[in-house]
Amino acid sequence: MSEVWSKEDESAILDMIDKWVENEVRPIAKEHDHADLYPHGLVEQMKELGLFGATIGQEYGGLGLPAAIYAKIVMKVSSAWMSPGGIFNSHLIQASAIERCGTDAQKDRWLAKMATGEMRGGIALTEPNAGSDLQAITTTAVRDGDDYIINGTKTWITNSLHGNSLAVLVKTDTEIQPRHRGTSMFIVETKDADGNVKPGITISKLEKMGYRSIDTCEVVFEDFRVPADHLVGGEEGKGFKQAVGGLELGRINVAARGAGVAQGAFEHALRYAQERETFGKPICEHQAIQLKLGEMATKVEAARLLIEQAAAKYDAHERCDMEAGMAKYFASEAGSFCANEAMRIFGGYCYSKEYDIERYYRDALLMCIGEGTNEMQRIIIAKQMVAKNKI
Ligand SMILES: Cc1cc2nc3c(=O)[nH]c(=O)nc-3n(C[C@H](O)[C@H](O)[C@H](O)COP(=O)(O)OP(=O)(O)OC[C@H]3O[C@@H](n4cnc5c(N)ncnc54)[C@H](O)[C@@H]3O)c2cc1C
Repeated sequence: MSEVWSKEDESAILDMIDKWVENEVRPIAKEHDHADLYPHGLVEQMKELGLFGATIGQEYGGLGLPAAIYAKIVMKVSSAWMSPGGIFNSHLIQASAIERCGTDAQKDRWLAKMATGEMRGGIALTEPNAGSDLQAITTTAVRDGDDYIINGTKTWITNSLHGNSLAVLVKTDTEIQPRHRGTSMFIVETKDADGNVKPGITISKLEKMGYRSIDTCEVVFEDFRVPADHLVGGEEGKGFKQAVGGLELGRINVAARGAGVAQGAFEHALRYAQERETFGKPICEHQAIQLKLGEMATKVEAARLLIEQAAAKYDAHERCDMEAGMAKYFASEAGSFCANEAMRIFGGYCYSKEYDIERYYRDALLMCIGEGTNEMQRIIIAKQMVAKNKI
C-alpha cells in the first residue's frame, strides 16, 4: 500500500536510483545482454536499495512507494537497460496479489520475506495455448486432503529459474460457467531450503531475441503438491479476478518500461546525430533527421504524461484501468517507434553489436505484447469509451 512521500523524499530516492543506474546497471548491460548472463550482482544491490519491497506496504517492511514514484524508477532503469526492471517488476506483481487478495496469515507469512528479496518470484499465468484468453488455461489443481495437486504447463514465466516462488493461476473447476469462476491462484514455493527446485516442478529456460539476461522459462507441474493454505485468499474461484485486479499497476509498470526504452533510444540517437557528420555537417542538421528527433522527443514526453496521469489516479484510489491501458498502449508503442527510428539514425552502425542501440530495438517490442497485448488494450479502451458515451 502506498504511503505519503514528500518531494524531498522523492528526490532523494530518485537520485539514489540515478546513481545506481549510471554506476552499476548501464556499464554491465551490453556484456550481460550479449552473453545472456543473469545479473546476480544487481540482484544483491536491488535488495540493498529496497527495490524488492518498492510497492509493498511499510507495515511489511516495504517502501510503500506510490505508483507515481515507482513508475519514475522503472523508467530510469529501463532507459539504461530494460531487463533488470523485470526482476523486481514481476516480483512485485506477485507481492501485490498477496497484499490485495491474501488472507492476513498469508500476508504475514510472505510479504516481509518478499520485501527483503529473501523470497523472490513472479506470476505464472500464460500457458502454451492460453495467453490473451487466460480463462482458457488448462493447468489444474485438485484438492487431496490438506493439499492440492497441480498438473499442467506454464510458459514465458519471468523470474522462475532464479526466483523461489510463483503466483500460479490454475483451474480448480473445469466445468463451471462463466469460466473465470473455475480459476484459483496459488502461491507456490518452487525451491527447497537448499535452493533446489522441488520434485514435481521442471523449469526450462527459453532462448529469447531480446529481454535477455533475465530468466523466462517454461514451468511444468507434474503431480506437484501445494498445501491448501497456499490458495490466495483461502477461497476457490477467485483466481482470474485476483490476476486481472493487479493489472492497473502492472500496466503502469509496463508503460514505464516502454517510456524508459523510448527515452533511452532517443538519448542515444540525439548524441549520435550530433557526432556523426555527412555532407560536411552533423546529421542532426539534416531536416530528415530533425523530423525523426522531433517526433521521438514528443512521443517520449506524451508517454511520460499519460503515465503520470494514470499513476495519479491509481494513487488517489480511483478506477484507472482505461488510463493505465492508454498509458501502456501509447508508451510501449513509443518505445518501439523510438527504438526503430534510432536504428535508422545510426545508419549501418545500428547493426553493430559495438553500439547499444540494437539492444533497445530487440527489447522494445516485448512491451507491446506483455501485460495485455496492444490489440487487447485498444479493444478495452474502445469498450470503455462506448460504455461511457452511450447514445
Ligand atoms: C519475454 C516474455 C516474458 C513474459 N513473461 C510472462 C510472465 O512472467 N508471466 C506470464 O504469465 N506470462 C508472461 N509472458 C506471456 C505474455 O503475457 C503473453 O505472451 C501475452 O499475454 C500474449 O499471449 P500469447 O503469446 O498467447 O498471444 P495470443 O493470445 O495467442 O495472441 C496472438 C495475437 O492475437 C491477438 N489477439 C488475441 N486475442 C484477440 C482478440 N480477442 N481480439 C484481437 N486480437 C486478439 C493478440 O493481440 C496477438 O496479436 C511473457 C511473454 C514474453 C514474450
